[in-house]
Amino acid sequence: MARVVVIGAGVGGLAAAARLAAAGHDVTVCEQSSRIGGKLGWYERDGYGFDTGPSLLTMPGVFEDLFAATGGPLRAELDLRRLDPIASYRFADGTTLAAHADDDTFAAELDERLGAGAGSDWRRLADRAARVFDAAEGPFLSSPVRAGGLARLAWASPGDIAAVAPGRSLRGLGRSYLRDPRLRMMLDRYATYSGSDPRRAPAALVSVVHAERRFGGWYVPGGLRRLGEAIARRAEDHGARVLLDTPVLRVTRTPGGRVDGVRLADGSQLPADIVVANVDAAALYGQLVDDRRGRRRVQRATRSMSGFVLLLALSGRTPGLGHHTVTFPADYDGEFDAVFAGRLADDPAVYLAVPADPACAPPDSEAWFVLVNAAPHAPAAGRPDGRGLDWDQPGLADGYARHILDVLAARGLDVRSRLRWYKTITPADLARRTGSVGGSIYGGSSNGARAAFLRPPNAARVPGLFLVGGSAHPGGGLPLVVLSAGIVAGLVGAA
Ligand SMILES: Cc1cc2nc3c(=O)[nH]c(=O)nc-3n(C[C@H](O)[C@H](O)[C@H](O)COP(=O)(O)OP(=O)(O)OC[C@H]3O[C@@H](n4cnc5c(N)ncnc54)[C@H](O)[C@@H]3O)c2cc1C
Repeated sequence: MARVVVIGAGVGGLAAAARLAAAGHDVTVCEQSSRIGGKLGWYERDGYGFDTGPSLLTMPGVFEDLFAATGGPLRAELDLRRLDPIASYRFADGTTLAAHADDDTFAAELDERLGAGAGSDWRRLADRAARVFDAAEGPFLSSPVRAGGLARLAWASPGDIAAVAPGRSLRGLGRSYLRDPRLRMMLDRYATYSGSDPRRAPAALVSVVHAERRFGGWYVPGGLRRLGEAIARRAEDHGARVLLDTPVLRVTRTPGGRVDGVRLADGSQLPADIVVANVDAAALYGQLVDDRRGRRRVQRATRSMSGFVLLLALSGRTPGLGHHTVTFPADYDGEFDAVFAGRLADDPAVYLAVPADPACAPPDSEAWFVLVNAAPHAPAAGRPDGRGLDWDQPGLADGYARHILDVLAARGLDVRSRLRWYKTITPADLARRTGSVGGSIYGGSSNGARAAFLRPPNAARVPGLFLVGGSAHPGGGLPLVVLSAGIVAGLVGAA
């Protein structure tokens, strides 16, 4: 039995704690804040409740595996609700369409709304996405990557590597499959699932299209935060301790270099044989442990995008509004140009999540979670690559909130007269709340042909140190961070 300290009670940290505790290790989770869940946050006030981070759950099988491996089925803990449609899209030319869960219905919807042939174009892309997903799932998503993920994929088969199309961008792939610019916009948006720019993100991200369509989009009644609570319970059932308000300042090491514990804010040391870091890899290598190569690696990557979140407490109901809505601008590239240059996007895509759930809003009211891609926070001193924005500038967040309300109104969703109150969560808030550097949601972005394959590996070079969570391999998003926990548990082994 090893003594394991997990730094951070985000979903990845909690999932690693549950797996390692179930495998017989003595596990302590140290969480800096006064609540678990990390980016999987929750905010409530005046009878309104909001998930402040994830609003869409994909690949539920990953969570089923986690629960099955740690003592009992997921469905005994949580009720998952499949969404149909997964999302509704609104384009600048006024076209709307619903992404139905059923493939045939969706293809028919595309033909009807965008014109004959749109359905079959998307189907061909979805088939390609399935091949990429199948090639990547075993060797990449569920396995540790050390020297080079691409090389591992090449070992799988030449057909697989051709499907993954290394060197090609997601945008490039879209151009060769999709004739309608609105379809290309829908595909481009999948780059933002890893906080990246579709013009520079690898074509392999098309696999997300498949993950969403094959496994569906899901909601957890009561809010997605319930998922974090259930994983924490599972860890505690196996004896793991979760210490809140317990920031870790340093990973401590023996003279030989192996980890031997963590230093806490009160100056005490918590001894450990294994340390699993769920903190942003840039913060780990920047502040908690000395490893020059690890630090260089995270510094080389462009930071992923952050998000500007607007929580709207509204009176009344919006006719015809579904659970998820994406409203696109006329010029999507303008948004990526702005965000990666550290500017506010004037006319961004706006994403809404409005669950029809009594846990989220009083009767005859709506709780809107509004998300816009945003440049990471760069406090006055600036970030090394100089491309962030100082989100703490007085008036910036409120001004942008009003601007987004105007953008929504211009796109036919005018809720200004129904607004009871609003709350903003900026990249700076996210950084403070979760320790993610600049509030980047996914650590390093996948901008660049090989970036997705060059994320910090789960086994650090420092003996006894492991990385779990969205800034490490295989990447961000709830299913991937839970996969990273499975990889780490496999690397550590049973007690
Ligand atoms: C606005 C938004 C929308 C999103 N939408 C979706 C979505 O729809 N679907 C989806 O799947 N994913 C979504 N995501 C991404 C998803 O939330 C993350 O990928 C995932 O939750 C990250 O989990 P993690 O394990 O990396 O840990 P994090 O959530 O990053 O948690 C890390 C934890 O470590 C703690 N910590 C940091 N430093 C220290 C320290 N020194 N000592 C102790 N504790 C420390 C933090 O307080 C935090 O609790 C979204 C994220 C955001 C912000």
